Amino acid sequence: MPQKTKKDPRDTPAMRQYTRFKDQHPDCLLLFRMGDFYELFFEDAEVAHRVLGVTLTQRTEGVPMAGVPYHAVESYLRRLIQAGHRVAIADQVEDASQAKGVVERDVTQVITPGTLTDDHLLPPDTPNTLAAVAFVDDETAALAWAELSTGSFLTAALTPAAARDELARIAPAELLYCQTADGQPPQRVRDLLPSADAAVLTPVAAHHFRPAEALRSLCDHYRTAHLEGFGYAAADPDLPAAAALIAYLRNTQRTPTPSSTPTPKPTGSAAPGGVAPTNAQPQRLPHLRPPRKFAPADHLVLDHTTLRALEVETTLRHNTAQGSLLDTLQACRTAMGKRRLRDWLRYPLARRDAIEQRQHAVTTLIDDDRLAREIADPLDRLHDVPRITARLGLGRATPRDLVALRRSTAATAELVALTSGSPALQHLHDPLDAIATPLTALADTLAVATVDDPPAHLREGGLIRDGHDAQLDEQRSLQRDANQHLAAYQQQLTEQTGVASLKVGFNKVFGYYIELSAVQASKLDMDHERFAGWARKQTLKNAERFVTPELKEFESRVLNARERAIAREQQLFAELCTLAANHTPQLQTLADAASDLDVLLCFAHHARRRDYCKPTLTDAPGLHATDARHPVLDELLRDKLVPNDIALGAPLDREDTPDPTLQLITGPNMAGKSTYIRTAALITLLAHTGGYVPAKSAAVGLTDRIFTRVGAADELHTGQSTFMVEMTETARICHHATDRSLVILDEVGRGTSTYDGLALAHAIVEHLAHRGCLTLFATHYHELTRLADDLPAVGNLHVAVREWQGDVVFLHRVQPGSTDRSYGVHVARLAGVPDTVVDRADRLLGELTQGHTLHAANGSPTAPDSPDTTPDHAPASDDAGLPLFAQAPPPHPALDELRETNLDAMSPLDAFDFLRRIKRQLENE
Ligand code: ADP
Ligand code: MG
Repeated sequence: MPQKTKKDPRDTPAMRQYTRFKDQHPDCLLLFRMGDFYELFFEDAEVAHRVLGVTLTQRTEGVPMAGVPYHAVESYLRRLIQAGHRVAIADQVEDASQAKGVVERDVTQVITPGTLTDDHLLPPDTPNTLAAVAFVDDETAALAWAELSTGSFLTAALTPAAARDELARIAPAELLYCQTADGQPPQRVRDLLPSADAAVLTPVAAHHFRPAEALRSLCDHYRTAHLEGFGYAAADPDLPAAAALIAYLRNTQRTPTPSSTPTPKPTGSAAPGGVAPTNAQPQRLPHLRPPRKFAPADHLVLDHTTLRALEVETTLRHNTAQGSLLDTLQACRTAMGKRRLRDWLRYPLARRDAIEQRQHAVTTLIDDDRLAREIADPLDRLHDVPRITARLGLGRATPRDLVALRRSTAATAELVALTSGSPALQHLHDPLDAIATPLTALADTLAVATVDDPPAHLREGGLIRDGHDAQLDEQRSLQRDANQHLAAYQQQLTEQTGVASLKVGFNKVFGYYIELSAVQASKLDMDHERFAGWARKQTLKNAERFVTPELKEFESRVLNARERAIAREQQLFAELCTLAANHTPQLQTLADAASDLDVLLCFAHHARRRDYCKPTLTDAPGLHATDARHPVLDELLRDKLVPNDIALGAPLDREDTPDPTLQLITGPNMAGKSTYIRTAALITLLAHTGGYVPAKSAAVGLTDRIFTRVGAADELHTGQSTFMVEMTETARICHHATDRSLVILDEVGRGTSTYDGLALAHAIVEHLAHRGCLTLFATHYHELTRLADDLPAVGNLHVAVREWQGDVVFLHRVQPGSTDRSYGVHVARLAGVPDTVVDRADRLLGELTQGHTLHAANGSPTAPDSPDTTPDHAPASDDAGLPLFAQAPPPHPALDELRETNLDAMSPLDAFDFLRRIKRQLENE
């Protein structure tokens, strides 16, 4: 046993500091600034080693350590955050060279996945949202969600199911919940997220959630006596979640606003940001807006499944942004506009007046092309105003932020002028007009004070213009004069010594020095009075360096001037930041109006370029379009895309007979069924954003929700039984779809054996037809098509195919009536299955259709090639509807076994063994 004679390696002043911070932030990785590195210790070091691949060393025995260089800390931070970690940054808050004993440090920032504000941690076009949930009771979950990076803040009290839907589109990076005794997030909290890794779950101390304390802390925070002005009664169920969220933000965001007492000397900027912090206090969060109640009824509901199935933000197949609806439509000019477009697609409007207001603006921008181009110009000069405003509020703005703000605010007046003449843009003009004067004044102040191309940080100064501040100018001219002085001094020394190659130089370690080459130095008589006061400072291989008292004095003068100039600049920078931060509400108004304008311009751009039409919104539930196109394929395939008509429900003209509310779409694989039904959903979605739609004409009934269920084959495996997922979602649709909902069903029933699936599909169609939900159902169950005979609400469509010389040509044209052929064999040939196999399959198919008949027993009016025979073994159906089980095959033990086998749960090898066994069984008969 090794004896513990050594001192505990943790018992050094620095490690005591470390332990104190770590105790304050036990759930964070602690990045501890030491010289030019941020160091991690103990388990944190191992995490860093694993996640970042940095080398694991030992500080002293038994103390694992890993470090990242401070100047590259951002990229390491990004990777730690992306891996779901929380990071506390402990920085040096005094100048290491002035420190007596251990240098003072403090935790200046806690970075968590949901509280990012720095541009290098956050993609410009993606929001970063923090959410909090508080269960009021089993039936009510209160949500609060905010973007620290822009200051938006919303709340809602919802049923758990609705909360789950909302969280899917809020897509928080981090979800706060009330801490529990066992330290684990409760199941009902986890159930709110679409998947386990959808958001990082963070507990918050329970007292923040107590209603009385919540009310008090919110009133304190907003400095109000009550919250009625924001629309909240004292006992509002939303308040605990909102209060917990603010408490969390205030505790993690500790960097103070740029202090007016400058630090003695820049210690090198902490992580991201400009000014080294002096003390760390909970944040006031001046840019965080007061909470606002989210009104679910103002928006079309799009749940997680629908957002995914319609590929609104990512594609199903690759789960990437490329090829999504957002990616296809993205033509916004500003980062804030890009985020707003995402927002509008995720939150389509439900109210006619709000939709039509946007439509009018788009129409104006389409009709007046010149105006559209003129507006684009000032938009192009706008930087990310909301995020800069947030950083100002948090005391983390950089010199470049300030200059970007100057350019952005300078564009306000132009936007006011350009929006003034059009009634359709009035709602954007008015708020811009109200803020133009103060923002233009701010722009002017900033323009006078700052240079055009500032440095990223203020370590060396360089933001403030010459001539702006007398004190700064004085220090700077001292520096400049010193440079002239230096040149003169070098000249003087050269003459004195007669050494032409003599140089006066500077380096960071030794300061100013006189340099002679080694050869020259050896020739000189250094004892001569000419060299009185010269002191040897450094001997290099080829040179000797000296200092003189004169040079020493000069040095201190220059360095002092430099330090004073930098300190003065920091002070001026802090003052300008405060001035700009005092304009927070106006800056947020500018950001809001400009973002809207940017998206409207983007809508107009697509409408003009791809010939979209303005949809008519109708009160009666229906969806009609001529020559409708899928917006993404429209972009990809252009002229090759076959447009199709859509006719569902109540017609535009009341005189006309209504169309079926439920259309069944049959047709072979690859014919275009899925594309067709998604086109209908996307047109509905786009119409509710206030944009134009890809069609020749369209009439869209005001819709409350789009439901989708995409069959197992198109869905990525999630671990759950696909059939279970399918049925859970179908159950949801059956419960919640109203006659104002659009329901898209794609091959529902595929996840189970044919008969179960068919029976379920049949029952679902009846249910939805009865409810009057607008439904498009793409199906491979041809048997379903006969439902149209019995149910007036049900109609049949099929995707046309032409057979030509034994081959199949897909026409992609949707036509009335049904089809009963799958052309599976032809598709197999197209897919490259060898001819021998395809030919054999074709012969088998022929035998099958002649023998047992594949088709429904009672014959189908649209199935000319299906013989009208009923197999003897088929049990007579006493159901007045469909003889669903008319074609049940004779019982066979092998079939029974096959039926009971769960193929999804088998490995390929097991499946092969199973097949071999069954085959043997059949051969032995
Ligand atoms: P299905 O669901 O019937 O199997 P899809 O809708 O998935 O067929 O379409 C298969 C492919 O056919 C699509 O990827 C697309 O390339 C093409 N396609 C579909 N609809 C059209 C159309 N209207 N015009 C041109 N090509 C289309
Ligand atoms: Mg399909």
